[in-house]
Amino acid sequence: MGKHLLLVGGGHAHLSVLADLASFQDAGHHVTLVSPADHHYYSGMGPGLLSGYYTPQECRFNVRRMAEKGGATFIRSKVLSIVPEKNTARLENGMAVGYDVCSFNTGSLPPSKVAGSGRADVFPVKPIENLLYAKRHMEDIVAMGGSPKVLVIGGGPAGFELAGNACKLIGCGCNDTPDVAVAPGRGLLTRFPERVRQLAYRSLARRGIKIFDGLTVSRLEDGTAILSDGLRVPYDVAFLAIGVTPQPDLARFGIAMGGAKGQGGILVDTFLRSVNHPNIFGGGDCISFQPRELDKVGVYPVRQNPVLRHNLMAALEGRDLMAFTDTEGGYLLILNCGDGQGILSKGFLTYEGQTAMWLKDRVDRAFMKRFQVSGELEEDL
Ligand SMILES: Cc1cc2nc3c(=O)[nH]c(=O)nc-3n(C[C@H](O)[C@H](O)[C@H](O)COP(=O)(O)OP(=O)(O)OC[C@H]3O[C@@H](n4cnc5c(N)ncnc54)[C@H](O)[C@@H]3O)c2cc1C
Repeated sequence: MGKHLLLVGGGHAHLSVLADLASFQDAGHHVTLVSPADHHYYSGMGPGLLSGYYTPQECRFNVRRMAEKGGATFIRSKVLSIVPEKNTARLENGMAVGYDVCSFNTGSLPPSKVAGSGRADVFPVKPIENLLYAKRHMEDIVAMGGSPKVLVIGGGPAGFELAGNACKLIGCGCNDTPDVAVAPGRGLLTRFPERVRQLAYRSLARRGIKIFDGLTVSRLEDGTAILSDGLRVPYDVAFLAIGVTPQPDLARFGIAMGGAKGQGGILVDTFLRSVNHPNIFGGGDCISFQPRELDKVGVYPVRQNPVLRHNLMAALEGRDLMAFTDTEGGYLLILNCGDGQGILSKGFLTYEGQTAMWLKDRVDRAFMKRFQVSGELEEDL
């Protein structure tokens, strides 16, 4: 008898399932996708979206169309809570949706731990569509003859890429040095090899981007950021790029969570299956992989695609599950500097140049091409 698969979130790890819904339908199963938006934006191209290197259509998947084309039900909402004993999820729109098997790919959000970060001129780096709203806001300021002052809060890969790409956006067509600053906390890219860090510092300095090294933002007031040493920095647009927390926190609902203080996401075993609810699965930033904690980077949800696709079908059919083993050997990281250059890092190899950015663009576009449905590039903004 056919069963019901509930997909919570249409993120990077669910794309193979969404592209292969016909197999689930052929096997007599019904699939429902709950997503807060019709589109899912590919984070790897997000900074390029900010600078205008990519159009919105080039870097998003129409997950609603993917679901409906494959015969699934699409519900535009968010899952807020879950009652695992009753196999039911509760949505923001008031609906309760039952399931036989449920899979979470709900990603992560920057924590709102900087006072004042809820202000309209502060843009958390996720969801990625925020970068599009920030771009429009900056373009409005430029259109009125101004030059926006940009402050990036956080010095990880997202913070570095956003500073460079914001500079590119507002630097276009103006001769003055764009007013872009970064408050990176302990420093830029502290988890990265020294050579990568040096290149990143030089890349920002080359374009006159200020770095308040060693300083964090204590609070944000009306157009002013107060740094940890008391310095007041005026801004028009601030980006919140201070790391991410998996969403949603399901600990209250009896789902085992991993990581420090249970904040690493849904604790899953080697089969990407919840350790205490065998009909709940997950992939991407919202999980904590029990065999080995994985970095919160898009590479892992991308690699988890075929495993989740196999295991969700296997769980519905009572067949053997497949283990996720693609966790060793590291991954290729290429940072988009925003000026046409990329910084590439893999193991001992570090390189900065246009070829690195060319390679990143090729890899990202190839990923988009695999899952975009027809007509996507013609859609309105
Ligand atoms: C600016 C930036 C650049 C980055 N660049 C790279 C890069 O180049 N390479 C790389 O490997 N990583 C990169 N990352 C990291 C990367 O963004 C994440 O690791 C990746 O997005 C995780 O994918 P995901 O599918 O788990 O989550 P997400 O991409 O966050 O997707 C989750 C989806 O679930 C939906 N959702 C959320 N909550 C709910 C809910 N309650 N109910 C239903 N749906 C929900 C969201 O709308 C979203 O569509 C970057 C991050 C940022 C911020």
